[in-house]
Amino acid sequence: MKEIIEFRIGNEYAHLLLEPGEGKKNGSNTIIHITKDDPKFEQIRFLNKQIREKNNDFFFLYSNIKREYSKKELATATLLQMKIRTTFEPAGEDCGTLYDETAACEICGANRKQISPLTLKKGSIPKKDIARTIAGEVLVSERFAEVIKQRSLKGIKLEPVLFGKGASNYYQLIASSPELELTEKTVAGVNLFDFSEGSEGREFTVSGHHVKIEREVYKCPKGHTIGLNLLSEAYVSSSPSINDYDFFSSKQKIGVKRGLLRPEPIYFCSQAFRQMIEEEKLSGFEFEIANIE
Ligand SMILES: [Zn+2]
Repeated sequence: MKEIIEFRIGNEYAHLLLEPGEGKKNGSNTIIHITKDDPKFEQIRFLNKQIREKNNDFFFLYSNIKREYSKKELATATLLQMKIRTTFEPAGEDCGTLYDETAACEICGANRKQISPLTLKKGSIPKKDIARTIAGEVLVSERFAEVIKQRSLKGIKLEPVLFGKGASNYYQLIASSPELELTEKTVAGVNLFDFSEGSEGREFTVSGHHVKIEREVYKCPKGHTIGLNLLSEAYVSSSPSINDYDFFSSKQKIGVKRGLLRPEPIYFCSQAFRQMIEEEKLSGFEFEIANIE
């Protein structure tokens, strides 16, 4: 496995790290791709801290970790993390999907209960076999549903998705297997240099208007959420159900309650599931290896 980290650095600060012409200009950012053992990685940690303290600003505005595996590594893994490439709006809540928010954790907002069929807007859905809304609702194509039926994979529940007026030919994907427990080795945080467990709430006045920004909780003291972003491969506790099912969600969630956003589980699948995606050329999926402890 090779881990490549992308940083998008504000152009005004790029010269502190890069030689002229180094990196790729992208509007107001400069994009670089490095590994953790590149000396630049520690330089970024230092510059990030310095600019935060001195300028109350961010050295980099975005970071993302990509893991590249060999075919053999992917083909021999017992458990894989299933990632969804495409995210879209509007979310279910904006299209009439009902949720019981009283079921959700009052601290982190995780685990609200969906109490109506997932309802979405016609014409808003990406042309992929899997996609998620910004609120973490996962939907799959009719073709995915047909293929699942043929292969009789276990642990997958498909519920019809509605459009404002009438039926759609999409399905909501739900894991019906026992949830998998993430272990302590799973690293989550704001980014690779920031492991804040929440944000500060703020109140201030702008042109006579009182503005209140609620405190956000990234790591729930009750254990529902473990951080804003997943930063490592996933580690799960060994469980007999790993051999009994083909699709799973994690018990602990990643993310935050912010507007329509909610903490979301990580999804896992079996080798048979991954092979189905490859053989049937279903689109929108990405896989990482998940570690069983
Ligand atoms: Zn909670």
